[in-house]
Amino acid sequence: MLKSIVLFFTLLCLCLVSLPLKAFSSTETVSGIGQYDENNVFAKILRKEIPATIIFESEHVLAFEDIHPIKPVHVLVIPKGKYRSILDFSEKATTEEISELIRALGTIAKMMKIAEEGFSIMTNSGHNGGQTVPHLHFHLLGGEKVAWEQSLRSNNTQIKEEQK
Ligand code: 5GP
Repeated sequence: MLKSIVLFFTLLCLCLVSLPLKAFSSTETVSGIGQYDENNVFAKILRKEIPATIIFESEHVLAFEDIHPIKPVHVLVIPKGKYRSILDFSEKATTEEISELIRALGTIAKMMKIAEEGFSIMTNSGHNGGQTVPHLHFHLLGGEKVAWEQSLRSNNTQIKEEQK
């Protein structure tokens, strides 16, 4: 009996610990379309409910460090408006929001001192794109060579070889 109670509480503790960890580091993909989810992690960062290292802020844009950087510089640049993905944003955002976000990408690249050596900007949309947070975000990556660019080229070469 005592063993069962101990086992029950151990399992309960494990669940309680793993739930918030999952919320912070989910690798599950999400749809890039549909209704905006007010509880996504970036909405919480915008509402200041969870902390983030803020790099840049303007009327329509917020930029902060990625919690799991894959490059020496890995900044996430997001619109403050409620847009699920680039699809949503390109359809519904105002010209002011769009231009402010694009300008911010350049400004932040200069701020992070990666403008001269070069950098990569990437956004994922939906399941095949590998999007995991349903609030539009651009990954600004730099500080060293971005490898996906190389694999893209080698894939293209491979496809061309196969088409011969
Ligand atoms: P996606 O896979 O959707 O293109 O990118 C989501 C990114 O958000 C990932 O690179 C992930 O590390 C980052 N991320 C997830 N949760 C948090 C968080 O709570 N804080 C910050 N700063 N970044 C997060």
